[in-house]
Amino acid sequence: RTKLGESTKAAPKPQVGLPNYDTTSFSWHSKLVEYSQKHFNIHSFRPLQLPIINAALDRKRDLFVVLPTGGGKSLCYQLPALLEDGLTLVISPLISLIRDQCYHLEEAGVKAAYIIGASTKEEVNQVQDDMTKNVLKLLYVTPEKIAKSKRFMTKLGKLYENGNLARIVIDEAHCCSVVGHDFRQVKFDHPKDCKPDYKKLNVLRTVFPQTPIMALTATCSATVMNDVMNILGMRNPSDPINGALVFSAPLHRPNLRYRVLPKAEKHEDVIKGMVKWIQKHHSGSSGIVYCLSKKDTHAVCESIIQESQGRIKCGVYHADLFEDDKEEIHTLWRENKLHVIVATIAFGLGINHPNCRFIIHHSMSKSVEGYYQESGRAGRDGLPADCIALYRGQDATRLTTLVVGDLNGKENVYEMVRYAQDYRTCRKIFFESYFSNDPTVSLSQYSGRLLNTTSMDQPCNVCDNCLRRHQGESIIKKDITMETMTAVKIAHATRKNTDDRITMIKMINYMRGRGHKKAGLESLFKSEDVQSTKGKWTDAELEMILMRLLIDGYLWEDFHFTPYSSISYLKPGPIAKQILPLKKGDIDQSDGHGQVIKIEMDFLVDEDTDDNQRPKKRSKTKTKPSAAESSHTSNENN
Ligand code: ADP
Ligand code: MG
Ligand code: ZN
Repeated sequence: RTKLGESTKAAPKPQVGLPNYDTTSFSWHSKLVEYSQKHFNIHSFRPLQLPIINAALDRKRDLFVVLPTGGGKSLCYQLPALLEDGLTLVISPLISLIRDQCYHLEEAGVKAAYIIGASTKEEVNQVQDDMTKNVLKLLYVTPEKIAKSKRFMTKLGKLYENGNLARIVIDEAHCCSVVGHDFRQVKFDHPKDCKPDYKKLNVLRTVFPQTPIMALTATCSATVMNDVMNILGMRNPSDPINGALVFSAPLHRPNLRYRVLPKAEKHEDVIKGMVKWIQKHHSGSSGIVYCLSKKDTHAVCESIIQESQGRIKCGVYHADLFEDDKEEIHTLWRENKLHVIVATIAFGLGINHPNCRFIIHHSMSKSVEGYYQESGRAGRDGLPADCIALYRGQDATRLTTLVVGDLNGKENVYEMVRYAQDYRTCRKIFFESYFSNDPTVSLSQYSGRLLNTTSMDQPCNVCDNCLRRHQGESIIKKDITMETMTAVKIAHATRKNTDDRITMIKMINYMRGRGHKKAGLESLFKSEDVQSTKGKWTDAELEMILMRLLIDGYLWEDFHFTPYSSISYLKPGPIAKQILPLKKGDIDQSDGHGQVIKIEMDFLVDEDTDDNQRPKKRSKTKTKPSAAESSHTSNENN
């Protein structure tokens, strides 16, 4: 953090020929400090805010800003807008966000206005009047204004000609990208149709070539960044004189404590665990519980109220609510009259609640990007906050059936599974390597222009995996070669013998030696190469083993579509060939030497923590735990 008025200690090295923007020595600095305090009551800058603001005020240069959600992107254009002559035009996709920002700005004594689809003729006239009179500092509009309103564009043109269009800001700039929506980028789930309008924003550079553009986004791969820059006509960053400057903050937010917890089998147990956890760690504070479906949000919300006997006040938020109800819920939550919002990912963009203390994923997200964004809504005030993902292998196949239509949908879910089943990698390092792992362009292409403040590859020391490492061994590697052989051979045989389709639940039953005779698998089980796993694993563990086999390609998910749902079936995967010819003898070397193949997987040693939802193995004797009863009653996938 940079204290206002103080010079920075470890200023990052400026690029050759580029001024050092991370200083307090610019002529406007005292004014900047004054305005920050007067209008925003801000006493220190968040990382990168100062250099971004300085760069904006220094020269009319394009800026591309990648700062995490809650990183304080708004100030990066609001403060320059106050210090500069003329009007700053802000294009933002979300109406509630626009209203919210303008409300705050008015309160802060800044002349700001907005035009949205719902604005009345009188309101529009008033704003356009104010534009002509040059009294506005900030004007927020939705992208369709640019795409569709000739009259508005004419007004802007007048401003431009008079030299009064100071800057154009594109918030949530990743929306411009075509690739963004398909490739590794969060689906833009909110306003139904702002995507096409965002693409039309290229007109801005054509019509107002001299006006600098500032693009802002939270997560953005280098590919998406390239695409957005092209679409907006931003100047090529490789041009040292006039090229765009890229400011990209580290992804990591040190106050967020990431954690994956095993999810209990039964709904009631999940809720019990959740309520207990909330009451223990965040009683009375604000949080979000993300669910997969609208139906889930209602069920979870009601159960939380019941289980906490009304002490945890919660409400539901999803796309089907009326706009008014959405606003009301959001407001109640911000005022802490509601503690917890149980929501689908429709509750997303534009949430402005700095002291949201926890985000619980009742079901994990459809992608790592999604998870990063959703969880990133916690702890915007910089104070410690918890990001908990409840994970159960079964949820993963439910997710894959939901994303079958999406490009890379399944792969995205598998990456999320990798995250959830990883007990070793620091979560920060996981995210960093995930987001820098862009096959097409590397971020380092821009590295000359990146002003990065913290180091990569340093573990966070607060996530579950770091704590595990610090507290010593609580992970055990178990050999799952026999289980792999069993699963792959069952998948192969069911296909060959009966052309039967086998769901994960059926597979688990067969692996346990249940119902396999009926399925014509008796002879398979007579060979020693397939073994019933009776008693060795819980259902949850078998699900995780199967997910691991799917991720690694020993198994493959095949989807079957009915008019009402899609179902995931298991079949042999692309590398099943390595397994199919194997005999028990091939893997039977007890010391592991000479084994043809050995597949191992991490498991958690039973920890007796309160937060842990994992079903305890019920054991009859001390040494031989009995199989947990199967709790699968349905295999519905929605
Ligand atoms: P973003 O758009 O990057 O997600 P916002 O601009 O909405 O983030 O800012 C998130 C919150 O942080 C807002 O409530 C804002 O007032 C607050 N904030 C931003 N910068 C600072 C700062 N330097 N000090 C204190 N609060 C800040
Ligand atoms: Mg924002
Ligand atoms: Zn860590």
